[in-house]
Amino acid sequence: MENTNADVKATGFYQSKRWKLTAQRIRQRDDYICQKCKCLVKHKQHAVHHIVELTIHNYKNEDIAFNENNLILLCNSCHRQVHSNSIDPTEIRKKREKRYFKK
Ligand SMILES: [Zn+2]
Ligand SMILES: [Zn+2]
Repeated sequence: MENTNADVKATGFYQSKRWKLTAQRIRQRDDYICQKCKCLVKHKQHAVHHIVELTIHNYKNEDIAFNENNLILLCNSCHRQVHSNSIDPTEIRKKREKRYFKK
């Protein structure tokens, strides 16, 4: 999961002017408020999240990359949560085991 996202980063997608403008529009549309926990994210770190996750395979697909219905503003902690919830269950299990055996 993290790797596919790193691959998208490597394409320069997030550096593109078009993405920056789109992300800015989403921030304004969502009033700089995290759509999950409703905290104000204007002065915090925040992320415009792709609901259908952006991967190296679909980042050129307009309907995913730039579709405003596929974009949502989240604060950083909610963003992390959303992504960790979407990781594959075997990964979650591994993490739980790690925590369990920590002591
Ligand atoms: Zn939040
Ligand atoms: Zn995201």
